[in-house]
Amino acid sequence: MSVNQQAHTGPPYGQPQPGYQGYQQPAYGGQPLPGVPQLQYGAYNGPMPGYQQPAPPQGYFPSLGFPSKGSPVSLNSDTSSLAPNFIGSLRAPSTSGASLPSDHLTYSPFGQGDVQNGIPASAAPMQRPPASQPYLPGSASMPVTQTPTFQQYGPPPTSVQQLSKHMAGMTVGIIAASAPPPAGLGYGAPRPPTMPGPPLPGQTAAGPPASQPNHVFSPPPPSSVSGPQPGPLMSGLHGPPPPTHPPQPGYQMQQNGSFGQVRGPQPNCGAAYPGPPNYGRQPGPPPPPKRLDPDSIPSPQLNELPPQQKPRHRIDPDAIPSPIQVIEDDRNNCGSEPFVTGVRGQVPPLVTTDFLVKDQGNASPRYIRCTSYNIPCTSDMAKQSQVPLAAVIKPLATLRPEETLPYLVDHGESGPVRCNRCKAYMCPFMQFIEGGRRFQCCFCSCVTEVPPHYFQHLDHTGKRVDFCDRPELSLGSYEFLATVDYCKNNKFPSPPAFIFMIDVSYNAVKSGLVRLICEELKSLLDYLPREGNMEESAIRVGFVTYNKVLHFYNVKSSLAQPQMMVVSDVADMFVPLLDGFLVNVNESRTVIASLLDQIPEMFADTRETETVFAPVIQAGLEALKAAECAGKLFIFHTSLPIAEAPGKLKNRDDKKLINTDKEKTLFQPQTSFYNNLAKDCVTQGCCVDLFLFPNQYLDVATLGVVTYQTGGSIYKYAYFQLETDQDRFLNDLRRDVQKEVGFDAVMRVRTSTGIRATDFFGAFYMSNTTDVEMAGLDCDKTITVEFKHDDKLSEDSGALLQCALLYTSCAGQRRLRIHNLSLNCCTQLADLYRNCETDTLINYLAKYAYRGVLSSPVKTVRDALINQCAQILACYRKNCASPSSAGQLILPECMKLLPVYLNCVLKSDVLQPGLEVTTDDRAYIRQLVTSMDVAETNVFFYPRLLPLTKADVDSDSLPAAIRNSEERLSKGDIYLLENGLNIFVWVGVNVQQGLIQNLFGVSSFSQISNGLSTLPVLENPFSKKVRSIIDMLQMQRSRYMKLIIVKQEDKLEMLFKHFLVEDKSLSGGASYVDFLCHMHKEIRQLLS
Ligand SMILES: [Zn+2]
Repeated sequence: MSVNQQAHTGPPYGQPQPGYQGYQQPAYGGQPLPGVPQLQYGAYNGPMPGYQQPAPPQGYFPSLGFPSKGSPVSLNSDTSSLAPNFIGSLRAPSTSGASLPSDHLTYSPFGQGDVQNGIPASAAPMQRPPASQPYLPGSASMPVTQTPTFQQYGPPPTSVQQLSKHMAGMTVGIIAASAPPPAGLGYGAPRPPTMPGPPLPGQTAAGPPASQPNHVFSPPPPSSVSGPQPGPLMSGLHGPPPPTHPPQPGYQMQQNGSFGQVRGPQPNCGAAYPGPPNYGRQPGPPPPPKRLDPDSIPSPQLNELPPQQKPRHRIDPDAIPSPIQVIEDDRNNCGSEPFVTGVRGQVPPLVTTDFLVKDQGNASPRYIRCTSYNIPCTSDMAKQSQVPLAAVIKPLATLRPEETLPYLVDHGESGPVRCNRCKAYMCPFMQFIEGGRRFQCCFCSCVTEVPPHYFQHLDHTGKRVDFCDRPELSLGSYEFLATVDYCKNNKFPSPPAFIFMIDVSYNAVKSGLVRLICEELKSLLDYLPREGNMEESAIRVGFVTYNKVLHFYNVKSSLAQPQMMVVSDVADMFVPLLDGFLVNVNESRTVIASLLDQIPEMFADTRETETVFAPVIQAGLEALKAAECAGKLFIFHTSLPIAEAPGKLKNRDDKKLINTDKEKTLFQPQTSFYNNLAKDCVTQGCCVDLFLFPNQYLDVATLGVVTYQTGGSIYKYAYFQLETDQDRFLNDLRRDVQKEVGFDAVMRVRTSTGIRATDFFGAFYMSNTTDVEMAGLDCDKTITVEFKHDDKLSEDSGALLQCALLYTSCAGQRRLRIHNLSLNCCTQLADLYRNCETDTLINYLAKYAYRGVLSSPVKTVRDALINQCAQILACYRKNCASPSSAGQLILPECMKLLPVYLNCVLKSDVLQPGLEVTTDDRAYIRQLVTSMDVAETNVFFYPRLLPLTKADVDSDSLPAAIRNSEERLSKGDIYLLENGLNIFVWVGVNVQQGLIQNLFGVSSFSQISNGLSTLPVLENPFSKKVRSIIDMLQMQRSRYMKLIIVKQEDKLEMLFKHFLVEDKSLSGGASYVDFLCHMHKEIRQLLS
């Protein structure tokens, strides 16, 4: 089938086609970046010649920093649980002490030029960049280079085996537990609690030869001696005798089999594997117990290591499936050729693989990923396997620059062609019949007349002759221009508005935050999203400041100075002005600049510590209502809203509830007030983005409700300090303001007969069982949808999904974005297990569990997760694997990482909090994960760990990742760990002085400051390389990650170790090895 995207230039579209600049390419600053999230500040080089980052106000913040006790370094935020209560003494005058507006309901326009509060009336209009300076050197972490979003890291892909990995569910291996571990997760042998003294050989695992899975092992040697591996059986891999581990008491496990290979081109389960004869599932007497030695793989560093002894009966961490190896293999197999979407049920490369997508009839995996691409024909089969059928959908996902954005199809007044019955949209799977006069719906089989204007003849194969000229007949993803029928009240929408709402209470002012935000907005407002070829953004802006009263600003272009109006009756919020509140940035430029200059001055002496919150949202909502448009509120908020007002909250944090039946209340909002408010916001298309700067508990679980249900984003900067946090905050803010977003969105997922969408996870609101409503939906948000059978499916026809998203673009255009995906159906369980995607499965399971904690005790949720996964694996073992001894653990090839990843979910802070994790952190993480895509959950649960000292300073590549375990670390190296929220740089105590000098600019390890959060900009290859790696990682993520430098044996190291997820955690989480044994036991119980 020739699908020619070039053909789209023709008239049928009525649209400019290839390259179609006019659309959704947020060409900020004249740099068209097709769909690339505006992480790149290159974009700032636009219309403002040389937009320069304003320097922080000079002489202002240094003296205003918070008392430095607040932990500047934390997990995602607060680690030390309590902030210094330094505001106590200042709270006495808790009247709105500021000289500002009084508490009565006044509209006190401080008229033209007559500014109150000591603001000089002559406040410079239009403070463009006199005070601006080039971006601070220290902030060089904000890269100016425009690296593509999907950086390739790791070795270049070498071969294409797109299909090979989908082949047989490989036997992964065997672990025979001669001494089953005790039940529960807290079991497991004690390990040396601290960094082991001598370097462990584990670190060498970083460098196994490419594409050689490091857990391929030969059958055991005849004796159980823990000696060298017999080389010959290792497919010729292993030369020199390995070193051995130091004695480590406790691991009582024995291994009597071999762990199997991997995503190679093995045609079938184990049998054809040319290597170890006893590969995984050879029936027959189990070989004598033995210990497998991971270190039999030669590695350059091996020789440097002292000879060590290994315990006799330890399960070898290298003998169990390695995430690093799976990622590496997929990259090598799938990374070099485009993923072409023309084939039904084709499993895409992993999210960790850098690949290009060509749309040939199915939606790109960037838009939709499924837990399985071959789904059981019957409900019974699905239940038996326990494999959840789910799709993770990211409707507005950012594509790679080389990929084509969805074309916009305009059918004029008649609108898109749809099935008469189920209302599915025209798509490549519709069948035209009767010479093209009718079409049969691929979802419900109903036959619909083709409208005369849409008629076209069929060719000899029954295809319309114009099919390749029409995106909706040839592509998996495309858009329709919506007609007025798709608009609220049958009226085309107005362009959306952004309202900036700034907390000006004591904390916000004293930390320098208010000034920082105002300075930033002065430039950022020139970069609001705009529709591709439009000269300026259609988005209007408005400004509100607040503490326990609200201040609205009239910034009408005709005014010489902004006017403030105060509303102190927060119980019944309304907007005191209509004209002049929402304005065009260009028209009101001078007045806005003046306002942003004045705000920090006006509140500089405030003593007001109390804030309201709900009235702020209400005010924004009312303003949008009055303007009859959708929009987004950007709320910058610092504290628990305890001032008398609707939605007032009390501090109800109570860590003692952890591990009790009441723990769930910590995740629930403390009042339903915000749920109702959220509903009103969704109705209006009012999306709320929340930037939180807490110094203590502020109840994220409650404050986040509206954000969450309106499709907004939450950002949290605990103990915000200008020096350490401003880069992160500003980068997040810039990206958040600029990123592609749709408003007033409704998403529906249609399916072919036999399955239907039954459950939804994500940041949205639902008023019925089918429509997912989002006041705003941006390019980073995903919705996970679960499907259940309601009838039988057939192998012939397969199953189809169609996701239709109706939304308003940033210019106010109403559109429909359609994504189609066709899946295979199977009658054999083996086919299901062969076509699963574990990363997507984990995304679903995590979201399912994170929702579960709202209603069930955390332990129940954890147990249910373990049980479901044990059933999944037991079903495979029982039905798909060939007979073998019960002592063998056999994992399906596509799911061999399920145990390790599942363990990471179980140990995560939501399900098993560490001591240092706050209640707000948990609520925050819970909400974040619920909107994450598969790539984000993957790195969040299993962080990426890179040995920086192994980086090749002359190439663009990243050093090969290593497994997340302390024993992989060497004292002589520097490592980077990232999880999408944080970047740790860990420095070993024995790192060469030269490296330390090059990276930190100090002469020895001991001179590196504790708690460092930036790297100095030094002119040497190593420093440049490390900073470029960090920049590259920052650009791959949707949030700017917090950088934390950790010195080995420093107290911060505990924080870092929390993310070494293959190890036993301090909070009681099992090590990977222990958990695998536990899963094995669970599976055996199910099978017996
Ligand atoms: Zn239909």
